[in-house]
Amino acid sequence: MDSKTITVTSPLLPDLEEFHGLLEKIWDSKWITNNGSFHKKLEAALAEYLKVPYVSLFTNGTLPLITALQALHVTGEVITTPYSFVATTHALWWNGIKPVFVDIEWETGCMDPSKIEAAITPRTTAIMPVHVYGKPCDTKAIKEIADKYGLKVIYDAAHAFGVEVDGESVLNAGDMSTLSFHATKVYNTVEGGAMVMHDEATKKRIDYLKNFGFAGETEVVAPGINSKMDEIRAAYGLLNLRQVDAAIDARHKVAIRYREALKDVEGISFWNDLPGVRHNYSYFPIFVDAARYGMTRDELYFKMEERGVLGRRYFYPLISTFSTYRGLESATPSNLPVATKMADEVICLPMHHALSEADLEQVIDCINVNR
Ligand SMILES: *Cc1c(COP(=O)(O)O)cnc(C)c1O
Repeated sequence: MDSKTITVTSPLLPDLEEFHGLLEKIWDSKWITNNGSFHKKLEAALAEYLKVPYVSLFTNGTLPLITALQALHVTGEVITTPYSFVATTHALWWNGIKPVFVDIEWETGCMDPSKIEAAITPRTTAIMPVHVYGKPCDTKAIKEIADKYGLKVIYDAAHAFGVEVDGESVLNAGDMSTLSFHATKVYNTVEGGAMVMHDEATKKRIDYLKNFGFAGETEVVAPGINSKMDEIRAAYGLLNLRQVDAAIDARHKVAIRYREALKDVEGISFWNDLPGVRHNYSYFPIFVDAARYGMTRDELYFKMEERGVLGRRYFYPLISTFSTYRGLESATPSNLPVATKMADEVICLPMHHALSEADLEQVIDCINVNR
């Protein structure tokens, strides 16, 4: 049995020759960071591709979250989800804000809007939901609650690159949305990220904040940080933007193949596409009902690993169980039954643009007990 190792993801890489050509331009210009020409081009190209008014590039996807909270002067308590990558909650911690966890919906993995109001206190100033796996949150319901209580909304849209609902970008919801362009994401700039905002004044302020607060040669208007993207990664990002649609199409085909092969497997469930949504197929989570499948999630996960199929228990453990956060009242499992169940049942299957039919057969063979 000489089956190969199949990883959960594989980075989308630009053509090396083309990248070399752009590197030569950067070398010639001797301008390697601080809002150079590739940085400007990538911000404009992303705003157009994503159908959003303003984009500010960052050096990763965590700093725009931290900076968004700073820019909106968010303090006190923020309502968020435990079912995410740990950076979501860490961004609150870095701002001295108390996270208040609310449960998620089984149908999407996103924050359950019906749980938000009960979590609001006089100290609540914002809501920070996550479009988890690129599934759009119920942005309308969240906006209604935010408007009623005068709360800011910052979306961690790290997974939602290119996701649209009825032709409109989900990144236009809330006061701000943040993206990650980490190597493992649908669209990457090696490390990188961005913030999406609605008006020019906010874009200007964010551009100051990501550059130490400099508003001019000698003027510092706020205690900013350094979270700028450099020219080399901006050039790489321009090349990757050209091929991201093809990568999303390839991912879509993988999702279709998995759904077809796993639809009749007792005890394995997954999500189908939502009507009116342009998905990006960033992840393919399956949920293992141990009693019906005859094997626990962990048993299946380790069986896959033995057979060279590296899935990921993503998101497990829940953020609320980590030592920094587990002492919070809102972190108790009884407050988060759906998130707890999802974290215990989920495996993200290998999902990327370069999976071959043989790779998919190997993955499906581990899971489909009917074969
Ligand atoms: C990847 C990710 C981040 C952090 O992005 P980095 O670019 O790795 O800093 C934040 N939130 C979520 C939900 C993520 O998946």
